[in-house]
Order: sequence, then structure tokens, then C-alpha cells
Amino acid sequence: MPIPMNANPPVSDSPQRQFVFISDGRLHDAPTVRHLLRLLEPVGTDAPCQQVLERFLADSAIYALPVVDAAARPVALVDRKRHIEFFSRPFSREIFGRRGIMALLEHEEYEHSEAIVVEDTCSVEDVAQIIIDAGMHHMVTGFVVSSQGRYLGVANGHDLLNVITQRKQAELHYLAHYDNLTGIPNRLLLGDRLDKACQDAKRKGTLVALLFIDVDHFKQINDSLGHSVGDAVLRKLVDRLKAAARRADTVARLGGDEFVILMENLDDPADVDPVARRLVQSMREPIEVLGHSLVATVSVGSAIYPTDDAAISPLLSKADAAMYEAKAGGRDRFCRYSTETAMYNPARMSLENDLRLAIDRNELVLHYQPQVDLASNAVRGVEALVRWRHPERGLVSPGQFIPVAEESGLIVPLGEWVLREAFRQMNEWTNLGLAPLRMSINISAVQFRRGGLPRFLAEQLAAYDIDPRYVELELTESVLMQGVDKVLQTLHEIKDLGVTLAIDDFGTGYSSLSYLRRFPIDRLKIDQSFVRDIERTPANESIARAIVALSNSLSLEVIAEGIEQSAERAVLEHMRCTEGQGYLFAKPLSAEDFLGWIIAHRKNRVTNDLFDEEIPGLLQDWAQG
Ligand code: C2E
Ligand code: MG
Ligand code: MG
Repeated sequence: MPIPMNANPPVSDSPQRQFVFISDGRLHDAPTVRHLLRLLEPVGTDAPCQQVLERFLADSAIYALPVVDAAARPVALVDRKRHIEFFSRPFSREIFGRRGIMALLEHEEYEHSEAIVVEDTCSVEDVAQIIIDAGMHHMVTGFVVSSQGRYLGVANGHDLLNVITQRKQAELHYLAHYDNLTGIPNRLLLGDRLDKACQDAKRKGTLVALLFIDVDHFKQINDSLGHSVGDAVLRKLVDRLKAAARRADTVARLGGDEFVILMENLDDPADVDPVARRLVQSMREPIEVLGHSLVATVSVGSAIYPTDDAAISPLLSKADAAMYEAKAGGRDRFCRYSTETAMYNPARMSLENDLRLAIDRNELVLHYQPQVDLASNAVRGVEALVRWRHPERGLVSPGQFIPVAEESGLIVPLGEWVLREAFRQMNEWTNLGLAPLRMSINISAVQFRRGGLPRFLAEQLAAYDIDPRYVELELTESVLMQGVDKVLQTLHEIKDLGVTLAIDDFGTGYSSLSYLRRFPIDRLKIDQSFVRDIERTPANESIARAIVALSNSLSLEVIAEGIEQSAERAVLEHMRCTEGQGYLFAKPLSAEDFLGWIIAHRKNRVTNDLFDEEIPGLLQDWAQG
């Protein structure tokens, strides 16, 4: 008798049940399981996979099938989800289709697995933890049965990875939104709250105020008394900011000695003044820290939404400008923003203008960071990373100007420049005699969504005569999460060109993992935050291990980025992460330095893979002069 589909709630929806794991290819000795067997019509171990699959496909109500040997003894339980997964992998239909069920069960993923029985009160989170502690062997092999003998589904890697990822994300969310030193919201969280506050204010017809606070002569405190005193002063200062603010206000740290108080639900601009004055006043009292008695006064500027600006983004600069007026007026005071306040030229404005010109002025360059095979050390590819040689600011990092380019739409011409330049470079390397290397190119979500990417790619591949198999686009999870159908179509158009796709910074996005099955992805890039100190950070280790297991189960390639230490590399290699990238191998290098790097490493295996036998003449000339 088949078990109906709706009798199989997902594991994560049934946190309070007893689980029995049967994962060693033999049934665990639990009465509940025997009971289950009686409910299900078994298949023999000699049944061809194809037949079982067809049976599954024909009747969607069949969720699981017990497998029995010649003596009708139960040997395993095959479930629908697991089965479909096997059969949907590239080639596996070929491999498994003709074999018996046993071949499927003898698959390596079923090896080394032992049954796990967990306590009655276990939640899915607990199960995840047990599985992590057991070394993740059970990532994709645990069958879950309730104490009533009801088959509940498979404790599959994806559900568990979701649980683990969510935990890690909560941790990352805290790190990303709160200030380390003082524990108060940071710039990012302040930005979110400001947006929300202004939207509320618009609806309700109220006002929002920002107080920008800077400590007077803080540098002197730091320089003369040391950082630990400086840090202690900042912490005490936060106490006073909180005391001066109203209870509902947000006190945030922008960085250094800069703080902001966000005040919501104001009816009158004048309501700001008492708070600001109270604040300035309270800072005149000496602070006792580490045996010192110090006075650290503050300069405060305010700007009000929508009175001073009906747009949100200039508000902080205006409050900042008002704070500068307070400094100019002798410090230890408060200034309101007014139309006369000299606008302190926000760096961002000029950055945007400069960036507009940078492409034409030839100020952009690509640097290349090798991606190596962890087992053999062979170089498999390079990632192209854009750099901006600003005439005055020097080398500007993409972290600074990519967000500006995205906001202003400049990312489109910039992204096109990057693609062309990367292709030109591939061509040049080929002409120098370098064996072909995979070129990974970052594509911004904004650029991807603008459309036209597949066509532009096709044109440029042809123009530079590039073998598309050596081109990989790095997308972030955020790209995949919006407008699934359109995204899917674009991804397929790109894949049809022969270009491969990787997900960058994998594990940091707030996305469900189900999309992984649906999108034609070739590679996951484990984010550097999970690689950092992986050898002594169990949370990072389990995440990385889970991602590697996930890649294996979906037949994806996997690479870890940001490897700095050989200990990190060793752990990753041991968990069979195939490739790596990071300072340990090389920093991102100019095209010239990259060639130099290869030549300098000629003696070891890394370079042998890059050249045919001898270094070609052209390159030899290059190396010598
Ligand atoms: P990403 O694609 O995740 O690139 C990896 C970043 O990590 C690079 O920073 C690289 O220099 C850095 N990195 C590599 N190995 C290590 C390591 O061992 N330790 C540490 N701490 N860092 C390492 P970079 O070059 O500053 O780029 C930052 C981000 O800017 C990139 O992150 C990417 O999202 C974006 N970006 C760079 N070039 C482009 C581009 O051409 N187009 C677009 N759309 N975005 C780009
Ligand atoms: Mg990247
Ligand atoms: Mg990355």
C-alpha cells in the first residue's frame, strides 16, 4: 500500500518527533521501521533502477519503497526524493538506469554511514548538529521515521544546510549590522533604519532628525594615552549618548569617533534642540577611564527630513556639514543645518563624476588572481578583478567604486569594458604561448538585470575569437533571486553560448537553496568568510563541508576563495574542495606580474601545466627583457 504524499511533511516542519535514521544500507533495528515495511509494497534488490524510477514517475503517491533481498528480508528504504536526485544527475541515468537497485545503494554516498537514533525531543536543528558532529557523512543519507512508524522524508543535505546556514547568517547578520567595540548599530543598520523612518514619516506627516556627533580632539586622546583608553572613552561616550537620547532613538556608530542619533516621530524641528544641547552638556563632565580623568567634548550637527532635504541619501552629509560648522564655530557645540551651511563636498559625488571619465581616460585595469587545483597545485584559471588607477586618489578598490557604479548605472559600460579587456588579455596570453586558462569574470546583479548580456557576450566572444569553454561568469546569489523566469532564460542563453556559470560568495546570500537545482550553475565559490581560520573555527568548517557535500550531490564544481594560510588550505583540501584561490597562492596581479609569477614558479608543478614542454620563444624574450 503506497503512502500518500501528504503523509510526508518536510522534516523541518516536524521539529518535535522522534527520528530514526537508516542510512547504512541495512534497516535499523527499530520496530517502527518494521511497521513501516508492512505498509509498503517492497521491491527486490535485483530490480533495475529504470523500473523503480518508472514506478515512481507513474504514481506520485508512492513516496518510498522498501528494498528486500531474495529472502524477503528488508535491506534498505529508497525514497522518491533521493531517487529522483540520482536519476537527474548528468549521466547517472545512463549509469544507474541499467543496473539493479543494489548498485544505487552501494553508491559511495551510502558508504561509511551508520544509523543514528535521536532523542524524542530533538528538533531539526539538533539533528543538524548531530550530523555535523558525526562528520557530515549523513548529509544526504538519513531517512526519517516518526515514532508511529510514519515515513517523514529524508533528512537531506539541503534542509540541514539551510538550518546551518541560517544560524551562520544570523551570526554574520549581527557582525554586519552591529559595531564590534560598542555593540550599537553600525552604519549599515543605521541606513536601513533611516530609510524606514523616512518612509514612515512621509506617510504620517512627521519628521525625522539625524544628529551627527564627532568627538573633539579624539585623535589626541588616542595618540597620547593609547588605543585602550581611546576605546574605553568611546564606550563611556556611548552611555552618555544613550542617556541624552530619547528611549526610542537609534544611537549608531559610523566608525572612528563618529556617531549618529536617529530621532523619529518628531512633530516640530525644535524638538531636536533639547536633545542636542543635553548631549553637548553631558559631555563636559569628566570621564573616568583606566585611572585617567578626561574631558572629551563633542561637536554636533543636525539635519531634518523632509525639512532640510526631501531625499534620504543627502541627509547624513547635511548633518555632517552642520557638524563641521559646529567645529568651525569653536567645537563643543551644536549647529543646525541651514541652506547657508557650506556643503562639505561629499566624496561620493566626485567619485561618480570621475568614474564617468575613467573608462575613456584608460584609468581602469584588470588584475588577475590565480585559481589552483588543491590536489596538484596546477593553475586552473584566473579571476579578473577590476582596479581603478585614480589620478589623485591612487589605486581605488572595487569595493569603493562598484557600489557607486551600480547606483549610477555606470556599471553597464564598466562591465562591458571588463569583459572586453578580459577577452583581449586571454587572446594576448594565447599568442604568447600560454596554455588556455579559465577566465572568471564578475558580473554585477545590476548589469545582469539590465538585459542584453547574452548578446554582448556572443559578440565579444566572436570578436576576440575566444573559446567559450574558458569563460566563466561569477554571479552572486542576489542575481538568482529576482524574477526567476527571466533569470532562468538569461542563464540558459548564456549557457547556450558555451560559457560556464559560478555563484560567487556562496553561503552569504539570504536565499533558499532550492534554486540551485533549477539554475544551470557549474560551480560554487565558498565565500572567504567561511574560509577564514577554518582550521580552528568549527562553524566555518561545517559550513564549508556542507557546501562541498552540496556541490557533490548536485554534481557542481567547488572552489574556496580567500585562502591565506596553509592550514586553511589543508582543511579544505582534506574535505575535497577541489580548487582554491587566495593570497596564499597569489594576490591579484597585473597581467605583467601574473606572467612573472608563472615564470618564477616554473620549477614547480604549477607552471608545468601552463606551457607545452618548453617556454615558447616569445615568452622567453619577455622573461629576459
Ligand atoms: P569577489 O569577486 O568575491 O573577489 C574576491 C575578493 O577577495 C577580491 O577583492 C580579492 O582581491 C580578495 N581576495 C582574494 N584573495 C584573498 C585573500 O586571500 N584574503 C583576502 N582578505 N582577500 C582576498 P577585490 O579585488 O577588492 O574585489 C572586491 C569585490 O569587487 C569582488 O569580490 C567583486 O564582487 C567586485 N569586483 C571586482 N572586480 C569586478 C568587476 O570587474 N565587475 C564587477 N561587477 N565586480 C567586481
Ligand atoms: Mg568574484
Ligand atoms: Mg567572492
